[in-house]
Amino acid sequence: MAWAGLKRDEFSILSGDPTVHEPSPGVQRSFCGRCGTSLTLTDERFSGEVYVALASFEDADSPLPEIHIWRSQRLPWLETTDEWPRYAQFKGDGVLE
Ligand SMILES: [Zn+2]
Repeated sequence: MAWAGLKRDEFSILSGDPTVHEPSPGVQRSFCGRCGTSLTLTDERFSGEVYVALASFEDADSPLPEIHIWRSQRLPWLETTDEWPRYAQFKGDGVLE
């Protein structure tokens, strides 16, 4: 899934009331309460960050992705041909491995 990583204090929801689900302790995902579209992901390990689903943007081509992360968990049959840097995992606060 493609996410835009933002600083949490620079992000706010202007209208609507998302439904929140906690798939694992400390991780919260929000969804549109009417249609179920994925909206955000937060993780208490990375408390200063919020990830917004690119598919929820009115213009999904902006912003353009810059990197691939969590390659360690990608589906083995999924391969992309772009030249963006690839990382096995993300440790928060901008630390990639
Ligand atoms: Zn909706």
